[in-house]
Amino acid sequence: MLLYRPTGLHELQLLAGVGWRAWPPRLPDQPIFYPVVTFSYAEKIARDWNTIDEFSGFAGFVMRFQIDDAFAQRYPVQRAAGRAHEELWVPAEDLEELNRHIRGFIEVVSAYVGQRATLQVDPITKLPAGFSSPIIAPDGPGLSCPCCRTLTLSRRSGFEICPVCFWTDDGQDDPDADVVRDGPNAKLSLTTARQNFLACGAASAEFKDRVRAPLPFER
Ligand SMILES: [Zn+2]
Repeated sequence: MLLYRPTGLHELQLLAGVGWRAWPPRLPDQPIFYPVVTFSYAEKIARDWNTIDEFSGFAGFVMRFQIDDAFAQRYPVQRAAGRAHEELWVPAEDLEELNRHIRGFIEVVSAYVGQRATLQVDPITKLPAGFSSPIIAPDGPGLSCPCCRTLTLSRRSGFEICPVCFWTDDGQDDPDADVVRDGPNAKLSLTTARQNFLACGAASAEFKDRVRAPLPFER
């Protein structure tokens, strides 16, 4: 299951400290961990709330991560205000176990900087200066392909072609998924490519003969 979470600068530092692999423990006054189901809901919180919050460093980051479906099903989706606000309620004491079910890395998808923030964000990594991206091992999981979600990329926005779906990673992701960039993916928007992948196993039907199945560590 694909999940998102809006986070501030402080939590981002904790994530970097553990190699982007695990969510930090909750504080005593935070009994529930609330990952959300859609990018748009996470974006709204990161952009409209974290950027005016001092404890967040006046900056918001939308993080994306994947957990095993079987584990995710323990937590029914809660709807705060209709379908647009879907989230999971994970008790703080389950967080360690949730961390063990994370596949690959917790990745930053987009960043929002408030007027009172003092940091600058790298437009490619979406990380503040001084932060390191996840370290990818040759035979370990990479970063997730924004189209097919398998863990095939050694970096983001590097124009790598995903071997599982044949999408070229030009940096497009959830924030602008509907845009036709006319770049290496030509007239394909990311949204259309995702739909094509679900329908035919490739970002576009013309690539069907050029893709391969994901390797075990890419799933
Ligand atoms: Zn892919």
